[in-house]
Amino acid sequence: MAFPNFYAYRVDGKAVFSRSERSFMDRLQEQVTEVTGVGASRARILYRLGISTVEDLLTHFPRDYEDYRAVTHVRDVVPDEELVLKVRVLGTPRNFHKGKYTITQVRIGDETGALTAVWFNQPYMAKALAKDDLCLVRGKVTRKYNQVQMASPAYTKLDEDIEAESGIRPVYKLTSGLSAKVLSGMIRQALDQYDDELHEYLPLYVRRDTELTDERYAMHHIHFPESFEEKEWSRTRLVFDEFFIQQAALKRIRRTMETQMAGAVLHDLDIGPFLKALPFELTADQQTVWTDIAHDLEAPYPMNRLVQGDVGSGKTAVAMACLYAAFRNGMQGAMMAPTEVLARQHYEEALRLLKPLGIRVGYLTGSLKAGERRKAYADLEQGDIDVVIGTHALIQEGVAFHRLGLVVTDEQHRFGVRQRVALTEKAEAPNVLVMTATPIPRTLGMILYGDMNISVIRTMPPGRKPVKTYTVDSSYDERLYAFIRREVGSGHQVYIICPAVEENEEAEHPLDLTSAVEYSAYLQEEVFPDLKVGLLHGQMKSKDKDAVMERFASGEVQILVATTVVEVGVNVPNATLMIVENAERFGLAQLHQLRGRVGRGQAESYCVLKTDSDKPDTRKRLKVLTDSNDGFHISEEDLRLRGAGDLFGQRQHGLPDFKIANLYEDMDILRKAQTACTLLFEKDPELSGDDCYFLREKIDRFLERGQVIGSL
Ligand code: ADP
Ligand code: MG
Repeated sequence: MAFPNFYAYRVDGKAVFSRSERSFMDRLQEQVTEVTGVGASRARILYRLGISTVEDLLTHFPRDYEDYRAVTHVRDVVPDEELVLKVRVLGTPRNFHKGKYTITQVRIGDETGALTAVWFNQPYMAKALAKDDLCLVRGKVTRKYNQVQMASPAYTKLDEDIEAESGIRPVYKLTSGLSAKVLSGMIRQALDQYDDELHEYLPLYVRRDTELTDERYAMHHIHFPESFEEKEWSRTRLVFDEFFIQQAALKRIRRTMETQMAGAVLHDLDIGPFLKALPFELTADQQTVWTDIAHDLEAPYPMNRLVQGDVGSGKTAVAMACLYAAFRNGMQGAMMAPTEVLARQHYEEALRLLKPLGIRVGYLTGSLKAGERRKAYADLEQGDIDVVIGTHALIQEGVAFHRLGLVVTDEQHRFGVRQRVALTEKAEAPNVLVMTATPIPRTLGMILYGDMNISVIRTMPPGRKPVKTYTVDSSYDERLYAFIRREVGSGHQVYIICPAVEENEEAEHPLDLTSAVEYSAYLQEEVFPDLKVGLLHGQMKSKDKDAVMERFASGEVQILVATTVVEVGVNVPNATLMIVENAERFGLAQLHQLRGRVGRGQAESYCVLKTDSDKPDTRKRLKVLTDSNDGFHISEEDLRLRGAGDLFGQRQHGLPDFKIANLYEDMDILRKAQTACTLLFEKDPELSGDDCYFLREKIDRFLERGQVIGSL
């Protein structure tokens, strides 16, 4: 059978293969109502769990398991141990009131004895169970006043005739109106009904090498294992699947880009005039990165490159060089920054570096007045602006370009994939350069950017000194205030960072905001009445933000109390001390990023991490920072200590939403999947073999769902 042709490459992965050319009907995509016993009302309930197709139902994996195999007889109960009993309800549950408590009691027992089940403040339990119900109960047994009791046991009513219920039972995420029993019943039914559709999609040689169990087995036994080994085998297989499909999809996209898409080709890559005007020489790493980029830009397919470099490593200069190159080739360039403050800074940098070279630099953010915005729109569309710097205002509807050839996004982990995609859609197939200061461990990099080429800037520009870092608790406050005075006394400036629950500046938590607001007021009034204390947080108007940054940069404000808004890119070389309040609430990589705000000048710089947490974990994590200034090392450690979700702060930023895989615990399986994927593409780069039939289908569906993360 012919392999479907590509008809379009959609950056959000909507379709890489042409749907119409697929003859294969995938029955797993049928509506869940096709499952016997699932009607419209049940479908509505399932929908609340994100389940609409049969596949959704089958991949609603258990989040845990309960072991009901070892059922104890009442005669054999041991106090204070968690036990499972198979009992009959011997009486009618009754509620008693004792002070403000409601106590529900009922006798339960089996053929070897009886005991009392007790629930506190769950009066509805009296209705939940009835005399003669057969149940499994699970809980701890205690002996009180010579009475044997089981306090607040979990219970499951059993059908008289279903013996299987007493094995290992899956625990699912549920929603109101849906019991565990009904849900597992539906899954059982679906497995039964769609058994033929659970195809093995991996070519045999891949499976043989990986020693995985087969797809059908895994799908059945993840839900209904008879032993924990079976569950583990199944889980391994399904985790592998998730990683493998994701990796394969990224590889597929990358191949498509390199072989099928025409990019804006830059023929003239002489950046000599730019370099001559630059106030410094590029470091060796910056030069290497530029060479990588130049190679991409002259290739007939669009560039798709990620530049990773620690804070202050000089990514901006490289981006400016690219924007210059685009200009030289008669194309427009756009650079998108996640915050207004940062966009402003880049804009000023562009005015300094690019304007003298005859480049018309524009600026577009949400804070422009309507008239200014209209003018910017018109200039962009007519090609009267060569390089535009801005925030997400760049991707609003209504923004059109004359000839966009290059898109740079800075600090991309703050942008959703969708936002990045939106900007690239403003041109046919622009060259894309993504810059990130979040040092991403290699393993994760594969997940996030498997389709991108990666360049790394490892060395810092000359003259950078490591920031001395310490951890203290709040008993050090007085000493810290003295330290602040000393730094300010010698003409330097200080950042004080208060945590924000959300990294995203629009969504700072009001409580944290209050703390920054109040803390700055306190410092101004009580501690440093003779100095100027400024305040910067994400909910301020951008005009006010700019004003404060301006006053801090000019030295008028000596102490800046801020939330993580300052995390990205702000450059005040005269700042030499940063104090981070509640340091335990930040991700390590984020703290490292924050720390990068100091140590930008000639003077010795310090970072003080304040925490009153005495958790050994917290101590251990913060020690990584006091011991190292290497962003890559730090993020590897962060990953090891906290897991992937915390790498970018409080929330997973841009990480794919896996159903069963855990990015931290399953690294071994991830590596296995990567190896297998590489092997597969070596053997069959187009996946055109008959043994890739179902695999192609899976990848296609994966892309259609827009699950590709990290592409563009
Ligand atoms: P980041 O990688 O965090 O974006 P920047 O591009 O803001 O870093 O650079 C940090 C500082 O280092 C800036 O003040 C920039 O002018 C300076 N810089 C960049 N490259 C060099 C270089 N090759 N030599 C000296 N200074 C440099
Ligand atoms: Mg930067």
